[in-house]
Amino acid sequence: MRWDNLTDGDGAAAPALFAADAVTTRTFDTPEFRGITFHEIRARSIVNRVPGASRMPFEWTVNPYRGCSHACVYCFARKTHSYLDLDTGLGFDTQIVVKINAPELLRRELAAGRWRGEHIAMGTNVDCYQRAEGRYRLMPGILTALTERANPFSILTKGTLILRDLELLRRASRVTDIGVSVSVGFTDPELWRTVEPGTPSPQRRLEAVRTLTDHGIPCGVLMAPVIPFLGDSPEQLRATVRAVAAAGATSVTPLVLHLRPGAREWFTAWLTHHHPRLLRRYDALYEGGTYAPRWYQRRITGMVHEFADEYGIGPHRAGAHRGVPDRPDTDADTDTDADTVTAEAPDQLTLL
Ligand code: SF4
Repeated sequence: MRWDNLTDGDGAAAPALFAADAVTTRTFDTPEFRGITFHEIRARSIVNRVPGASRMPFEWTVNPYRGCSHACVYCFARKTHSYLDLDTGLGFDTQIVVKINAPELLRRELAAGRWRGEHIAMGTNVDCYQRAEGRYRLMPGILTALTERANPFSILTKGTLILRDLELLRRASRVTDIGVSVSVGFTDPELWRTVEPGTPSPQRRLEAVRTLTDHGIPCGVLMAPVIPFLGDSPEQLRATVRAVAAAGATSVTPLVLHLRPGAREWFTAWLTHHHPRLLRRYDALYEGGTYAPRWYQRRITGMVHEFADEYGIGPHRAGAHRGVPDRPDTDADTDTDADTVTAEAPDQLTLL
């Protein structure tokens, strides 16, 4: 594994971000961590500037982990594991880099004279509330550091573990602007089990949305990814929007699956195994490259907005999800993951 010449998960070029002698590798013999290897790192920096941030709704990010045991087949962050000479398929799901000094680094960097207190987006590369966070508990220290500085921030997650930090989020919201979004692309249980095998179920995520909202933390839903031919029928879209509205989400923002290199190969292997008859249709839909064509994206967005109106979730608001673009930028070289956004750079932002 390469630990020199690393960049962080958002594309910020930082020479030797991790000290080569600062890697400790651990495994835990508990059911939730079986088969997962953790690489504990003492990072050299934690607040990352996003290259090409003018195209993004955020400029600064914090990512305490790399790799994600949520193991979404379509995850656009997969490619970032290749910069560590790690496998972008199963390796991305099971080789997790943990920046164990993230809270102390953040406290120091927020206190530096050059820091201007700008918005920090989290969950933009991999999920900061993935399972590892249950053991390493980095987010409480991160949230506390941000709160102490009244520094605005946003979180995008599929992890119901965020509820553990509800009180910290409430405290932060009393002193600064915070934004929380949960990613729920569909509610079909069969699709969930195969395509997002390590995540809490969509139902549990929506329950988390309800809990957050009920406790004074307004929460939007990033409806991502909408998966062509498997989760894009009007009935499926309607059911998802209805569930999102019932959960009390403040907004719903649809994003169609996109397939960057790294994610594309893994997703295609999954498709070949589970839905071989769809391979040709996918080849045709994504013949232009990473993104589905504009007409398809417009059709999905139009239907979701129509259903959102019907269920009274309110108009789609620009910037409803900090850390997530309102529309996939199909011209710019950016990504909107099934959870995140990316610039073409060694480390990308992905949409959870
Ligand atoms: S899409 Fe998000 S939750 Fe899923 S594996 Fe990637 S970073 Fe994790």
